[in-house]
Amino acid sequence: MLSILQVALDTPLHRLFDYRLPDGLAAVPPGSLVEVPFGRTRQVGVALGTAADSAVEAGKLRHLIRVLDDRPALSPDILRLAQFCADYYHYPLGAILLATLPPRLRNATPFVAGTPWLLLTEAGRAAQPAARARAQRALLDALRAAPQTRDRLRAQKQGRHAAALVAAGWAAWARLPPQATGSAADDPLLRSDPSPAPAATAEQQAALDRLLPALAQFGVHLVHGVTGSGKTELYMRLIDAVLAANKQALVLIPEIALTPQLERHFRRRFPGRPIAALHSGLGETARTENWLAAPGCDLLLGTRLSVFAPLPRLGLIVVDEEHDGSFKQQDGLRYSARDVAIARGKQADVPVVLGSATPSLESYAQALNGRYQLIELKQRAISQARLPDIELVDLKHIPLDNGLTRPALQALADTLARGEQSLVFLNRRGYAPALYCPSCAWVSPCPRCSARLVLHRTAHRLKCHHCGFETRIPAECPGCGNPDLKPLGQGTQRLEETLAALLPAARIRRIDRDTMRPRAWTALGESVRAREVDILVGTQMLAKGHDFPDMTLALILDTDGALYSPDFRATERLFAQLMQVAGRAGRADKPGRVLIQTAFPDHPLFRYLQRHDYPGYARELLAERRQLELPPVTRQVLLRAEATAMDTALAFLQRAATLAPESAGVSVFSAIPAPMARVANLERAQLLVQSASRQALQAFVRDWRPRLDDIRPRVARWSLDIDPLVF
Ligand code: ADP
Ligand code: ZN
Ligand code: ZN
Repeated sequence: MLSILQVALDTPLHRLFDYRLPDGLAAVPPGSLVEVPFGRTRQVGVALGTAADSAVEAGKLRHLIRVLDDRPALSPDILRLAQFCADYYHYPLGAILLATLPPRLRNATPFVAGTPWLLLTEAGRAAQPAARARAQRALLDALRAAPQTRDRLRAQKQGRHAAALVAAGWAAWARLPPQATGSAADDPLLRSDPSPAPAATAEQQAALDRLLPALAQFGVHLVHGVTGSGKTELYMRLIDAVLAANKQALVLIPEIALTPQLERHFRRRFPGRPIAALHSGLGETARTENWLAAPGCDLLLGTRLSVFAPLPRLGLIVVDEEHDGSFKQQDGLRYSARDVAIARGKQADVPVVLGSATPSLESYAQALNGRYQLIELKQRAISQARLPDIELVDLKHIPLDNGLTRPALQALADTLARGEQSLVFLNRRGYAPALYCPSCAWVSPCPRCSARLVLHRTAHRLKCHHCGFETRIPAECPGCGNPDLKPLGQGTQRLEETLAALLPAARIRRIDRDTMRPRAWTALGESVRAREVDILVGTQMLAKGHDFPDMTLALILDTDGALYSPDFRATERLFAQLMQVAGRAGRADKPGRVLIQTAFPDHPLFRYLQRHDYPGYARELLAERRQLELPPVTRQVLLRAEATAMDTALAFLQRAATLAPESAGVSVFSAIPAPMARVANLERAQLLVQSASRQALQAFVRDWRPRLDDIRPRVARWSLDIDPLVF
């Protein structure tokens, strides 16, 4: 008699939970979402298997409340992928399964699917708004012609007028499946205005000749293509072939604001094809709707979490900018979406295409050793677009004035005089990295972190960028009472102020997380292209993906921290960022110029950068990693612990080290305080485990993890990070 249902729940426990099926319910298909009692609450879980009996005493077994049949069950391939993650990341299966779901499906409240449409009511048909309510009249007329989707109304900034019509009783919101309104043009998934494909370049064609025959089965293909070489165009050609075979494509992109642009690009290229997007810029409802629409779409464009989206006809996975750090989740299930994409491709037997101008060393090493296919695009797709010249300004000989050298300022002035545009990069948000007291050397400490509070002058606040703490700017030094506190160093706000004073004729825009919302990016792009901006100031996030034809100068003010950082990946990341920046300058017919201020012009990184030689630098870095036995030559696992006292955190890790299983070829290092030792009032420590063999390391962690549950005294939090990227 099969009457026990095993349910995965979102708990820290590595086990399933048993429930009794109500009378009359013989089985629940695996993957179904169910509601069950849990302690004194109810939880949504995922039904996995049925069993004849349970280790729980029959009298204590509780009943399943109900199957949530208002939503689709998780498909077998998603269950299998989640199981892979549970095994590889040593994380509870239930927590993974629930995390793959969009927010609205994680609780039992019914979610009404379908896009919200604004429909005319009976009263609305006859309504006559006042003549001066012109916008409302226009919207009413539009509604008389056809219902409008909420998405479109928002895009046209009509939300306020829509609300006014609803308040007047002239219109009402309704959720309809897209086809219910008839016209495909009204379906937001299909909205597009087509643009045809250009003829492939010789390099693109050579790449296609290799990739198209490989689409039939699993394989990992690394497309290393310089910025502007037409990687996106190459993906679209592959997607063409996938769609022609009636399959779906999944395109994973980094967690950045340019999703809407890329989405528009894809929609133009595949008119009439249902395309869904999933990213954090969408609200919970939109994310849930798009997730629900994913099985029926032809193309899903999304950030990290989309790797778990339901795609029954999956035929291709593309990971664009595969080196980007945002593919790795930094809390909870610390997965790498790139690696999970490869696991999914393998399970589903579909190819995975990784693309980048500066591949991660992890991927590049696999391509060099032949496990991934390496495909190179060395030329820019638009032939007259040359790679820019990269010049160094030696800070050992040329003095800084407010963070700028004379040659840098001159270059900006020259570019302005030619009527061209410049980018200025500084990787520090805020006005100044700290506020300091010249008389007692007080330097605005965060009371909760081992970090400085950053001066945000326009907001009149000191803010911690690590824990979110903020406070008013003190009128006098808390250390000695000196009223004359000074900003220390340069942030983007201060840089903007400096530039405005030095180049009064320039129209300057500053972009960083303090000023930008995702939607504003599109508007910014338009205003740059319309030549309403002369100088864009911002952090490196500005470098990603924008294509500004008249941007001919890129100025990089401060990179030196990364050149000699204790983080062994810092130079790899810096090189990637600088290549990105260099890729922004001079993309069209005008030659570009990149100027880097540095006190270390002899660093080998610059030599390779000036030659635009990624392969050369990658080989040098790989040789260094081999010598130092660092990833990707070895594999790492980091055990982190946080406690109110550093001693407690360290003691936990030392105990963990003594509980380590004997394992040949696995090294357990010493417990040490984390580089950022204190965040939000918790002291943080870490213990590194490393091996040349992934299998040996996995077997080690499999034995080790269960022993960690029993360590006393407990710490506030501990976690395992498999393949950590940030220390
Ligand atoms: P990447 O993704 O490698 O940086 P993109 O795909 O964005 O490069 O292409 C860079 C520019 O080259 C874009 O403006 C794109 O439209 C153009 N392009 C790409 N392929 C071709 C082609 N085959 N013919 C003409 N222009 C192309
Ligand atoms: Zn002081
Ligand atoms: Zn802080």
